Amino acid sequence: MQPLDPDEIRASFVNCSRGEAKSVTVPGDVPWADRDFLGWRDPKAPARAYLVLPYEGEVVGLALRAAPPARSRVRSNMCAFCSTTHSVSDITLFSGRRAGKLGREGNTLGTYACSNLACSRYLRGEIRPDIPQPHESLSLEERIARLEDKVHRFVARVLESR
Ligand SMILES: [Zn+2]
Repeated sequence: MQPLDPDEIRASFVNCSRGEAKSVTVPGDVPWADRDFLGWRDPKAPARAYLVLPYEGEVVGLALRAAPPARSRVRSNMCAFCSTTHSVSDITLFSGRRAGKLGREGNTLGTYACSNLACSRYLRGEIRPDIPQPHESLSLEERIARLEDKVHRFVARVLESR
């Protein structure tokens, strides 16, 4: 993805208050060319997670909440974005308020994903999941396209009533 500066990142959030957007801890030293989206947990508040990506000509940022492991009753060990299989402790249920009317009505959306949101790094083999992966015949480019498609579908649902 194209590099973003901290101001662009903070201005991108569509589903949280301006106050929260301003207080977001933005990661540094991002190798932008090897990232399909920027995803991270706030080191000062690990229950807060963020996803920022180019989407239909704009930059969209989502503020998410990570369910605490003890209470999330994880039912999946596969990341819904990158399809990496993990032990359940490395999969987290993330939920985010929907933008616009649905969000004002208290509507949220959840998804299971890599706990560290490092999907781009798993796909590229920069880090390895802790359990062996099922064989896939897709090329890296095809897996990246699938990741983008799945993340975009999630973003589209968050933005549905914006
Ligand atoms: Zn993932």
